[in-house]
Amino acid sequence: MNPDISLAPAPETKNQRLFFALWPSLELSRELYSVAGRVLEGDGRRVPPENIHLTLAFLGSVKASFRQCAEQVAAAIRTGSFTLTLEQIGCWPKSGIVWVGPRHTPEPLSRLVQELSAGLAACGYVPEERSYAAHLTLARKLRRCNKNIPIDPLIWEVRRFCLVQSHTHAKGARYEIVRSWELNSPEP
Ligand code: ATP
Ligand code: MG
Repeated sequence: MNPDISLAPAPETKNQRLFFALWPSLELSRELYSVAGRVLEGDGRRVPPENIHLTLAFLGSVKASFRQCAEQVAAAIRTGSFTLTLEQIGCWPKSGIVWVGPRHTPEPLSRLVQELSAGLAACGYVPEERSYAAHLTLARKLRRCNKNIPIDPLIWEVRRFCLVQSHTHAKGARYEIVRSWELNSPEP
């Protein structure tokens, strides 16, 4: 048998399920997990701390060439770092999702999302039609939805963003940060 011939596709030719995200420190994620526990009082299924994140753009299942293009877009981003104040818990009754987010989306975050979407369009990305809602999902399958619960603000100094691969399993998703980029220092 010729050892150069293999019937299995080379790993790099396989599609990957990818998204751009902001990833909190494990310390902040644990804090969010415990806040969710207090607020939910047993309702819903909490997202484990290591899975808590803020999605910037969801690429879906893409080819290696798409990933390459997306990485070039990310490397060209010049947005500055910023502070994200997580100060309210909300829920979306239709999807049964509980989230935490800022009251107002900071301008650099909107710009980051906008620049990523615009750049990714050249890679074949179709931006979402609904407007961007900055949030971190804390729980799913919620039965009772209490709107907009204020919490003691949690301050997140956001200095980088990352490209994440989602490995979906029957038990739930596992996320792997495959690459990250530093945001510029904010202007004085
Ligand atoms: P699971 O699908 O296993 O329940 P998940 O939704 O967390 O887990 P993915 O579907 O891989 O995992 O999604 C990764 C991230 O992208 C999540 O934050 C998810 O909310 C977001 N996302 C998924 N699909 C879309 C979409 N069509 N538009 C915008 N964001 C999406
Ligand atoms: Mg999903």
